[in-house]
Parts: sequence; C-alpha cells; structure tokens
Amino acid sequence: NQDLNGQSVAVVGLGKSGIAAVRLALARGASVLAVDQNENLDPLKQNPLFETRSSVKTVLGNFDNNLLKDVDTVVVSPGVPLETYGLSLLLQSGKRVMSELDFAAEVLPRCTKILAVTGTNGKSTVTTFAGQMLNHLDIKTFVGGNLGVPLSEAALQCLKFSPKSNPFKVVVVEVSSYQLEIPHKHFCPSVAVILNLTPDHLERHKTMENYALTKCRIFSRMSNSKMGVLPLGNQYLNDAVRSFANDINLAWVGAFPGVRINLDAKVASIRIPAVDGVSDLQLGAMKTAGTHNYHNAAVAALAVIGLDIGIDVKAINSTIDKLKVPPHRMQVVHRDNNGVVWVDDSKATNVEATYTGLVGLKGQKSVVLLGGIAKICQGSSGFERLLEPLKCHRGVVTFGSSGTMIQKTLSAIGLNIPCVRATNLEEAVKQARSMTRYGDAIVLSPGCASFDEFKNFEHRGRVFQELARS
Ligand code: ADP
Repeated sequence: NQDLNGQSVAVVGLGKSGIAAVRLALARGASVLAVDQNENLDPLKQNPLFETRSSVKTVLGNFDNNLLKDVDTVVVSPGVPLETYGLSLLLQSGKRVMSELDFAAEVLPRCTKILAVTGTNGKSTVTTFAGQMLNHLDIKTFVGGNLGVPLSEAALQCLKFSPKSNPFKVVVVEVSSYQLEIPHKHFCPSVAVILNLTPDHLERHKTMENYALTKCRIFSRMSNSKMGVLPLGNQYLNDAVRSFANDINLAWVGAFPGVRINLDAKVASIRIPAVDGVSDLQLGAMKTAGTHNYHNAAVAALAVIGLDIGIDVKAINSTIDKLKVPPHRMQVVHRDNNGVVWVDDSKATNVEATYTGLVGLKGQKSVVLLGGIAKICQGSSGFERLLEPLKCHRGVVTFGSSGTMIQKTLSAIGLNIPCVRATNLEEAVKQARSMTRYGDAIVLSPGCASFDEFKNFEHRGRVFQELARS
C-alpha cells in the first residue's frame, strides 16, 4: 500500500505538513495536485522540488472544488477545515480523504511503534520529554508531528530504508485536534495520551463536547493491548472516551493504573495497566522550571514505559536530570544586572496555559505580561481565572489588542496588585522593568494568541528575548 504509481494525490494546504505530504506523495510514485487558497504563497520559490517535477501541478488562490473529485486521494493539511473545498461531502461520498498524519502513517513499517500525544496544553513538552527519554536510552526515535518536523518526513525516511533496517523503533508524535478531524485508518498508536482538555480552538470545534470527541479519536484505531492515557476527572473526556476506547487499556493521570504525583516528595508513582506493582519515578533531579513540568515528565515516563519495549522506571530515572523544555515554555532566558530573571512563556496562548505557568512559579515574585488576542469562549475571556495565582505577584502589564479588556476584567474582580496597560510588547517590557525589585522575575505568559503584533508565538518569544537582553 506504499506504492501509488499511476495514481493521483491532491494535497490541500501547502504549509509545512502539506509540502512534506507533496514530497511523500511524489516519493510514492503519485502525480500531485498541490492546492492552497493563498495566492501569494509561492511554493515554487520555497521549494525547488516543485519546479523540476512535471508530475506536480500547483493551483494557488481560487480553485474549482470539482477538480478534487477526479483524484484518487485527497490529503488535507491540519490548517484546512473540513467545511472548505467541499471536503466534508467528498469524505461522505467515500472518497479517500486523509489527514497528513494518516497518509504518512500508511507508510510506516509495522514494527515502528507510535507514541501519540494530544491535549490542550503541554503537548509539545510531553512529546519532547518522551523523545529525550528514548534518545538518552539509545532507542532510535523520531520526534515530530504538529511539533517541528511533520510525520511525512519520518515516512519519507522509512521509504529510503529496507524494512529490515527500519530507521525508527519509535515515533513520538504531537497531534493537534485539527489533525484528528478526519477519521484515520493507519494511524494506530501503541500508546496515546490526552493530557488535558480546557476551552481552546472552539471557533473550529464549536462545543467542548465536540472538542472532546475529536481528541478521543486518537484512540479510534487502537486495539486491546494498547494503552490510552487520560486525565482523571475531566467530564467531557469521560463521556467522549466511551465512544472510542472500549477495549484498550486506560491509564489515568491522578490514579492507578496510571500515575499519581506527589509534588512535595517530587515522586511520581507509576503503574501500567495489566502489569503488577508500582514503581517510583524520582522527579527531584529535574532542572526545568515550573511544577507542571514534573507532571509532564511523569506522563512522558508512563507513556514510554507503556510502549512495552523493555524500558522500566529505573531506566527512565537515569534520564530525568537531562530533560529540557522546548523553547518559549517557561524558559529562563536572561538574568540582568539588577537581579531580574526574564522568563519566556510565549507559548502560553490561552488562559489555562498561563494559569499553569503562574502556579508553577511558586514563590518567585513576578511582573506578568498578559495580552495579544484573547480567546473568547461562551462570551468570556476567562482571565478571571488568573486572579488567585496573580495575587502574590508584583504586578501585571497588559498589552496588545485585548490589553484594555484584560485590564478591565482583572480590575473589576478586585485584583489587589498594580495592573497597568501598554500598547505593545516593547512598551509593556519597559513598564514591567520599572515595576520590578531586585530578585523579581518578568514573565511573558500572555494567555492570548500573538497575531495582532507578531507572526506567531515563536516570533513573540524571540522579540521578548531580544528586549530582555537589551
Ligand atoms: P502545547 O504543545 O499543547 O501547546 P506546550 O508544551 O507547548 O503545549 O506548552 C504550552 C504552555 O502550556 C506552556 O507555556 C505552559 O505554560 C503550559 N503547560 C505546559 N504543560 C502543561 C500541563 N501539563 N498542563 C497545563 N498547562 C501546561
């Protein structure tokens, strides 16, 4: 089923995953129709591969949906909603409409185990931690998906090798809810994790119930020896999981089987379903900021052990001191001459992520920068949730297009620390600087999307880091 010689594949959406899917389709022998609504996108310049191949036809801007009816397979990039290009109807009509993830997984050797991670917040961190654990234990591992390198790139590498010299024993894949909208057939994880579920992306998923169902689709192709990991006590997930996970082993974060974390003792006790005995993971050796990272490391450990490839808690304990968070996640980026610590948590693009980051700061007094484009859910921005963790801090500076709203929201509910407004991030940093005392931190944990002022959260984080150093 790897060979698509003589067949045609349309790839809809030419971002990073789409381009990788085009390369994979070509490597599988297909002719490709590459489509993107953005007429200014220039895949020809970005990717010399497109120029030289007569088997690729690119259509940018306006596009006749009927063209998709004539191809054998339609591969949909995560950024493209199913309501566009008539994709829903095509799917209903029985056409082979696939996510980039499923198109890639079709090519992975059977002996390659998939560890999949989804959730609202913490996916990249858990994916990175699991990859680091496996790499430190010398297991040949690919780490990517929604984070970094698309899964199609791993599939391309597998195509180059004979099945006997499989390049990856494990692929650790971060999966976004967008990638799970289309039911999959080939993406069958050995372990799949849903870390948490709080309001986000509801402009696309509409309701929390639907968001939970979409997330739980990660379990849909897993058979009974496989392990699903879920957070204890999330009603939406409890209800949704019943539709998908009848015969897989469920492990709960917060209970057994699963993992129970004792933050005071910095120990996570792990029990895998269907295996006797509890083992203790020693988290005290971790060098990363934020208590939520103990949680993330424990979940990564549970998932890696659940792969059933001979890794136990003892082996994982030898990797804990080497774990590093990915950039822009509560990353300490600078200590200045006035004793101020600068923390970049630009990846906190929703209130819940900011909440977790602030709680993780424990006793570190900080000025917190909040702002950008707030995400509104059922009429509320949700910033009220930050009242409690902000109480013990030095102050707040709000900025960007939602800055005024955030300042008003916090003042209206009685925030007891100074809360000032700046127009943009640069000004916010200046204001924050004048509010700090020796030993304080300045934390960018905006709780908002970045697109009013920046290309993405990475761009926002880089600008913050430059401002910190200057
Ligand atoms: P994702 O890939 O799901 O967006 P990241 O690992 O990039 O998640 O982390 C994004 C933000 O979420 C971080 O800046 C951090 O503040 C917060 N976060 C990290 N881990 C967790 C967790 N386990 N629960 C809730 N929030 C978390």
